[in-house]
Amino acid sequence: MVVEKQSLIRSFRERFPGSGGVRVVRAPGRVNLIGEHTDYNLGWVCPIAIDLACHIAWSHNEDGVLRLWSANVREMREFPVARLQELEPARHWSDYVAGVARELALLNFSPEPANLFIHSTVPTGAGLSSSAALELSSALALLSTRTVAAPAPPLLEIVKLCRRAENDFVGMPCGIMDQFVSAFAREGAAIAIDCRSLEHTPAPLPAGVKAVAVNSMVKHELGQSAYPQRVAQCREAVSILQRKHPEISSLRDARMEYLSDSGLDGVPLKRARHVVSEDERVAEFIGAASSGDLKRMGELFVASHRSLQHDYEVSCEELDFLVDNAIALPGVWGARMTGGGFGGCTVNLVAEDAVGAFEESISRAYRGRYGLTPQFYACSPADGACEL
Ligand code: ADP
Ligand code: MG
Repeated sequence: MVVEKQSLIRSFRERFPGSGGVRVVRAPGRVNLIGEHTDYNLGWVCPIAIDLACHIAWSHNEDGVLRLWSANVREMREFPVARLQELEPARHWSDYVAGVARELALLNFSPEPANLFIHSTVPTGAGLSSSAALELSSALALLSTRTVAAPAPPLLEIVKLCRRAENDFVGMPCGIMDQFVSAFAREGAAIAIDCRSLEHTPAPLPAGVKAVAVNSMVKHELGQSAYPQRVAQCREAVSILQRKHPEISSLRDARMEYLSDSGLDGVPLKRARHVVSEDERVAEFIGAASSGDLKRMGELFVASHRSLQHDYEVSCEELDFLVDNAIALPGVWGARMTGGGFGGCTVNLVAEDAVGAFEESISRAYRGRYGLTPQFYACSPADGACEL
């Protein structure tokens, strides 16, 4: 779904008549192929940016405020530019933008007064990271409002400040994957990210296969509290492991054999086993992708899902249903839940010529079982955030 720049500018002018020159930025959502709940454990992830994106058209105003209009929510909000550092969270969608504006102000990159027209094609709360797309597009838009000749911060600093906005202002203790891929992705390949060193390399996918995201159209409340709880449980596992292996500072450093020699059991053991095995799966997946081994890539997808289902316990009935049905279909190499869990999307590795039949079968089965029509997104690796 490509949003035309000109049509966005027209919508901007209808909402904010009499504005001067309008500029447009975009930042993509993402689908994570593998490496789930590993980013905040400083491990590895392998996402692709998708061609669903958050677009922001903006123009300066004379009113001393940042004025935000979300065309998705159909709501206006405004903040005095002189007081961005003092902003407090309002538990509202505008927190994502306000949090970014505040971080910029704290770093002395305070934006100039402007009207922002926000329009995103990333479905919200579906595990495709509409939040990072909103943060990154906000950061690019707000930085480009500045009329002083000083350079913008490096892209990695923009990624980090967007993450801080989500961690500290919105209050969601996410890792760095979503903001990173929305900024650094390049068309045509997934990217493998080392979430400790923050190095990344392209990970091309074999020809003839499509990553298809399937939206379960459900989002269970439990996910809200479960995410920070998982972050805390991983920290607890690290502190138990440290008694025997003091050199460990995150689950990224743990090896499979440590899990049995350190007195870990119960919930911390299950959480650690997911993270350590998932890091191994990411490395193996990248190797399998580069040698075109679709069978192994698919097996790793399913192993990742089972680990998230049974050890990390972040799946749900609907996601399990979608995965179990998908992997029984011809032309499907593998399937797994993607994103934080408790609803949202699965990601499926489907032979290009089987995509139509796949969508038809899944749609029929899911409607039959849950009375909901799932949405499908054929995900071609897209470019990261930029001005249009
Ligand atoms: P995800 O990132 O998987 O889509 P999150 O819960 O992290 O799910 O972020 C979704 C939230 O981000 C929405 O509930 C809303 O507050 C905010 N958001 C994202 N895009 C927009 C938008 N275009 N307009 C307003 N709010 C948005
Ligand atoms: Mg998000």
